[in-house]
Amino acid sequence: MKIGTKVIHAGIEPDPSSGAIMTPIYQTSTYVQDAPGDHKGYEYARTQNPTRNVLEKNVAALENGKYGICFSSGMAATDTLAKLLKPGDEVISTNDLYGGTYRLFNTVFNPYGINFHFTGMSDLGSVSALINDNTRMIWLETPTNPMLNVIDIAGIVSLAKNRDILVVVDNTFASPYLQNPIDFGADIVIHSATKYLGGHSDSVLGAVVCNDDQLAEQLYYLQNSCGAIPGPMDCFLQLRGIKTLCLRMQRHCDNGREIAHFLQGHPKIDRLYWPGFPTHPNHDIAKKQMADFGGMVSFSLKGNDYDEAVRILSATKVFALAESLGGVESLIGHPASMTHASIPKEEREKTGLVDSLIRLSVGIEDPEDLIADLKQALGD
Ligand SMILES: *Cc1c(COP(=O)(O)O)cnc(C)c1O
Repeated sequence: MKIGTKVIHAGIEPDPSSGAIMTPIYQTSTYVQDAPGDHKGYEYARTQNPTRNVLEKNVAALENGKYGICFSSGMAATDTLAKLLKPGDEVISTNDLYGGTYRLFNTVFNPYGINFHFTGMSDLGSVSALINDNTRMIWLETPTNPMLNVIDIAGIVSLAKNRDILVVVDNTFASPYLQNPIDFGADIVIHSATKYLGGHSDSVLGAVVCNDDQLAEQLYYLQNSCGAIPGPMDCFLQLRGIKTLCLRMQRHCDNGREIAHFLQGHPKIDRLYWPGFPTHPNHDIAKKQMADFGGMVSFSLKGNDYDEAVRILSATKVFALAESLGGVESLIGHPASMTHASIPKEEREKTGLVDSLIRLSVGIEDPEDLIADLKQALGD
């Protein structure tokens, strides 16, 4: 089955009790048993919920994996994956990373004795130099947030081969429409489904997909033991949102392309980041591993002019100034003070995340209106 059909049908059957074509919202905390232990596969709703189970099957299929495990947020999913580690274990992670993940690794898990190394992963040599006998996990995001570097998933997987190292890919920015890390050999895919998967900025949810039976068992065990499960209403909203994932992603990519080209060469712009430009340092990898280039575009201003950045961020009328991304509506954001404020300035600037950097999550509105809005905000 192709992804355009999977988003609508994979794992989704008419509801067995009524034939309802849309998965019902099973808003219940427990299930009645006929005799102790004699039940229909559902005992308590932290452990199993039919709405969640359907979403988990659907998300697994979208990522070409066997198992899907959903959580109350992307961070809850990340937290659960970090709990696969033990004191003394080491993790190699992208340095240009979602701010919340950086914070969780450095301030929550590091005190438990897990050591994190952050490095630019465009250079595979810098990753391989950090691998040692304690390395248990390589964590990457691609494209990265907000610098839109593209990392060679298969290349990273080749470094971990034949070693006891899990390769985890945060696929939030690409979505399963653009890339399926498991096909390149990744062990685990994680999503903040809050973003493109759900796609409507109306729910917070996380998802993990893997293929390995033992790993899946461990993750279901952690999901049930730690309890960061999503509610049934949010699972329903995700299932509904996912149905249009392919249509939305096509439009996000088309609009992203138009806006990147409009911004190219603009007199106020210093650096422009979009992996679709042949001049982007990782363009060849992007072409190889992604179906298109996505709807995220970042740029910095000439002279790293922070005041001008604040003026532009406040001047758009269609682009809303807000954190998050991946919804149908276009958003404009300031990573240094918003999504990446928890990363120290020196660390941020090493990756190019300067104070004048502006990030666009290009929505699915009419591109003419989006460009007109950017024109007036830039003062053209
Ligand atoms: C938003 C985001 C997260 C965190 O997800 P939440 O659903 O907000 O908890 C993790 N990774 C990336 C790349 C994100 O954009």
